[in-house]
Amino acid sequence: MTEPNARQDPPPAQEQEQAPAQAPAQPQAHAQAPLPRTGIGVDVHAFDATGRLGLHLAGIHFPDEVALAGHSDGDAAAHAAADALLVAAGVGDLGSVLGTADERWAGASGSEILTEAARQVRAAGFEVGNVAVQVIGNRPKLAPHRERAQELLSLAAGAPVTVSATTTDALGLTGRGEGIAAIATALVIPQG
Ligand SMILES: [Zn+2]
Repeated sequence: MTEPNARQDPPPAQEQEQAPAQAPAQPQAHAQAPLPRTGIGVDVHAFDATGRLGLHLAGIHFPDEVALAGHSDGDAAAHAAADALLVAAGVGDLGSVLGTADERWAGASGSEILTEAARQVRAAGFEVGNVAVQVIGNRPKLAPHRERAQELLSLAAGAPVTVSATTTDALGLTGRGEGIAAIATALVIPQG
């Protein structure tokens, strides 16, 4: 009796290959949603050469630490975050949009600059997904202040801002204690 056995043969290869090809309806629908965009920002400030006290970093005021030089309060973390946001949305960068040339921003705090950058990004038709900032320097130690820094910068940006910190094994301007650097990435989502 060979007939029953013959019916159990696997279906022709053609049928098996057709099944996956019929599934792409869902991915096509998703592909029409606007893709998020990323941006990157870097900022560096030297410590004040005169030893003036009063450091501003990641939205926090450290009254007993040597201040950072530069226009505004020298908050490298907030500036890098603002830069990353502007770049992600393609509306310029910190120097061109909120730079020293504009008197309105010459004395602004880092948080005020971050708030304004986020406002401009939203005005350009984007929602802010998140911003991640990494501070590079020997001091001040940010770990005990990380949560507060994240709260302040998130409040300024109107979106989650996370803060981390690292050192450079005593190398470079931050390793020699000459200043503080910050690097940030931002994610923005086109609306409509
Ligand atoms: Zn700056």
